[in-house]
Amino acid sequence: MPELPEVETSRRGIEPWVAGQTILRAEVRNARLRWPVDEEIIALRDRRVLSVQRRAKYLLLELDQGWIIIHLGMSGRLRVLPQPQPPEKHDHVDLVISNGCVIRYTDPRRFGAWLWSDNLLTSRVLAHLGPEPLSDEFDGRWLYEKSRNKRTPIKPWLMDNKLVVGVGNIYASESLFVAGILPCRAANSLSEEDAALLAQSIKAVLLRSIEQGGTTLRDFLQSDGKPGYFVQELQVYGRAGEPCRACGTPIQAAKHGQRSTFFCPQCQH
Ligand SMILES: [Zn+2]
Repeated sequence: MPELPEVETSRRGIEPWVAGQTILRAEVRNARLRWPVDEEIIALRDRRVLSVQRRAKYLLLELDQGWIIIHLGMSGRLRVLPQPQPPEKHDHVDLVISNGCVIRYTDPRRFGAWLWSDNLLTSRVLAHLGPEPLSDEFDGRWLYEKSRNKRTPIKPWLMDNKLVVGVGNIYASESLFVAGILPCRAANSLSEEDAALLAQSIKAVLLRSIEQGGTTLRDFLQSDGKPGYFVQELQVYGRAGEPCRACGTPIQAAKHGQRSTFFCPQCQH
């Protein structure tokens, strides 16, 4: 599933191709995604792109009038085609750009979304989202204050979008390892020092992943079509039974709800 670093990588990948350009039209071959592709997108003609932004795991194309909100869902992918190419089976949406390129959306499982918004402030998918993890608003103080009366385990608590957006399963496990904190501890057991270290670790893990072009899981491809390279560097995620890279102790797995969590019983407390 594309996580925040992959979405940010996609944003950076398509931005130079579309910002300041005009979307001549959208070609929607299959509108049946997680929600039906909005009519305004299907009918789109000659709209200038002012900027390409990201909020949580949503890509936001700011047009001279209105916004396109894109979510990659479970298996969505955006690519830049320098010139048009015939679509294949899962290529559901194209944006035809005035400079001759095509932004192509491919999504085998069709859990992604293409939504229209006249005003982002009233967008139902963006309302109620917590702070961006890489913003100054998100820090140890924020985590500490929010954790005071939370007895839920830290790991699923971190993945709640109302606390902070974009900390998915992989990055929650990895950040807790870097911070040396056990994922099953109650959130309210965090000391101020723990909270500061955890916020710092989340930022560091996400930034490193963005720099490296996003984590590869299954079929994620970078915006230029090449696979990302972060997967080899995961410390704990998906490594149950393998030796901890820091101390050699076998990595353990646990379940929180439906989600697997990975940790080192020696390095994390
Ligand atoms: Zn260890």
